[in-house]
Amino acid sequence: WLTAREGGETTSTLVVLAGPTAVGKGTVSAYIREHYPEIHLSVSATTRAPRPGEIDGVHYFFVSDDEFDRMIAEGELLEWATVHNSYRYGTPRPPIDAALTAGKRVLLEIDLQGARQVREAMPEAKLVFLLPPTWEELVRRLIGRGTESPEEQARRLETAKVELAAQDEFDHRVVNTDVAVAAREVVELTS
Ligand code: 5GP
Repeated sequence: WLTAREGGETTSTLVVLAGPTAVGKGTVSAYIREHYPEIHLSVSATTRAPRPGEIDGVHYFFVSDDEFDRMIAEGELLEWATVHNSYRYGTPRPPIDAALTAGKRVLLEIDLQGARQVREAMPEAKLVFLLPPTWEELVRRLIGRGTESPEEQARRLETAKVELAAQDEFDHRVVNTDVAVAAREVVELTS
């Protein structure tokens, strides 16, 4: 990143995709991973366990609490946060620096706390907020995926209200009505 800037070239773009729970960030980034291989999708480190089908090093780097502590201490993370009051998630910095130096377009799919930290660390980053078509649709998607208990769903919806209020901090807003359309809009923002 620094090399690219020192060289006086146009810097490659770093785009941060954030948005409330269940809006479809994961689905949009999975679509981008599959259909736009030219985009460097950052692989986060997390202390949570893999879900069925998730591959270490592809979807996340699954690390222990001790390893996550070490990554923080060594300054290896561009940002990190405890998400939904449970596990820690963070963005390893070296692969991002390498991709940007190589002129690649980089996409981070992270939560709102992480997006704010990236804004501080890299003011050039473009922040994109993914929105549901309506509040009712967000509720429907969260309940429909059935991965959280009713108590957890209620807690996430409270967080989602607070997060939706933060959308004005973002440079761009993309409405996720159709995953392919939303993915294309996000990809267009990386160039
Ligand atoms: P999940 O456990 O469902 O894969 O992800 C839970 C949440 O963690 C999502 O909101 C996702 O955006 C967020 N997340 C994933 N990776 C990172 C990261 O590296 N940093 C931050 N701050 N949040 C992340």
